[in-house]
Amino acid sequence: MRKFTGDKLVIATHNKGKLKEIADLLAPFNVQVISAGELNLPEPEETGVTFIENATIKALASAQAANLPALADDSGLAVHALNGEPGVYSARWAGESKDFVMAMGKINDMLNDKEDKSAHFACALVLAWPDGHTEEFEGQVQGNISWPPRGEKGFGYDPFFVPVGHDKTFAELDLSVKQSMSHRANAFKLLIEACFGKE
Ligand code: IMP
Repeated sequence: MRKFTGDKLVIATHNKGKLKEIADLLAPFNVQVISAGELNLPEPEETGVTFIENATIKALASAQAANLPALADDSGLAVHALNGEPGVYSARWAGESKDFVMAMGKINDMLNDKEDKSAHFACALVLAWPDGHTEEFEGQVQGNISWPPRGEKGFGYDPFFVPVGHDKTFAELDLSVKQSMSHRANAFKLLIEACFGKE
């Protein structure tokens, strides 16, 4: 397991919602965070069929383009009665215009005749170095799809996802609550233990 020893880390995302959560999770670690968006790095095509494959593509592309270690997040929503869809295609279901109200409506329509409304968010985090070395971590959070969407916080599919043990959606809960239990936070704990901990 390779430790992160630098002071600058590229966050390989152009997604403002993810960037905000990752920067907040990294805040205690004295790391200067720069986004791929700020560096105008190109967005590679996500040709993988798993979250880990896509996160690896993004992390390596940014690490090599910036010549700095880079952290990528590939994540999405898996709806159990829909065989895990939209999964790695979660961003693509919202189309070019990133219309998540439309994407949530589509999922709700597909779930209409199903009793099982359970789903989970999954997150793969890959930390890559310019020499091609990578470390990978995964986290999940279980919950249920709730209709209609509620709340203004968060991003993406947050307004119709109610995590187990709560009755509010991720878009209604405070960021600090989401950050204590989300798929991203769970993957992050493993990353921190492995790569940011003491020798
Ligand atoms: P990608 O990882 O860039 O392919 O995109 C993942 C997509 O999954 C995002 O655009 C969101 O739509 C969705 N997603 C991932 N994490 C979250 C989350 O924490 N809340 C809501 N939606 C999420």
